Amino acid sequence: MSAPSLTRTLRSESPEETHRMGVRLGELLQPGDFVGLIGDLGAGKTHLVRGVAEGAQVARSEVASPTFAIVYPYRGRIPLYHADLYRIADYDELYATGFLDLIGGDGAVLVEWLDRVPQAAPREYLRLTLRPVADDARELHAEAFGSRPAELLSRWAP
Ligand code: ADP
Ligand code: MG
Repeated sequence: MSAPSLTRTLRSESPEETHRMGVRLGELLQPGDFVGLIGDLGAGKTHLVRGVAEGAQVARSEVASPTFAIVYPYRGRIPLYHADLYRIADYDELYATGFLDLIGGDGAVLVEWLDRVPQAAPREYLRLTLRPVADDARELHAEAFGSRPAELLSRWAP
């Protein structure tokens, strides 16, 4: 894999701060954007995604934690597709769900557990890796691959 064109390391001191970071990202997302989220259970991926959904003006009640389904489609300022690959075994199984057809389409795509099926990532995307550094603190390492993701990241974390 080629080197990212832009990286940032951010720190969140609370679940609320992670949520607010998500809101700002959600305000910036455009159709075609792809955000991959990586981090162990409890790292804060879903907290961030709920913030993104709020920032994209999705009704709060619509955003569930996708434990059993693969893709949750939401309608906000733009369509938002939230996928969780936790239970996906491999690329073939993911392909069969039809999820890959959503990439680069009419909405923005957010994928938890992208590291389970790394081949699902398009050529250009924003990768966010979350890591607990204390009870209520998280390190968020952001890597932009490609020019649009770099623009997105530079606006999100100037
Ligand atoms: P994931 O989707 O990565 O499994 P969740 O967002 O569902 O993680 O859960 C994160 C858990 O960690 C929640 O219980 C949340 O309260 C806790 N937490 C503590 N500090 C933070 C933080 N700074 N950001 C996000 N979550 C945090
Ligand atoms: Mg989650």
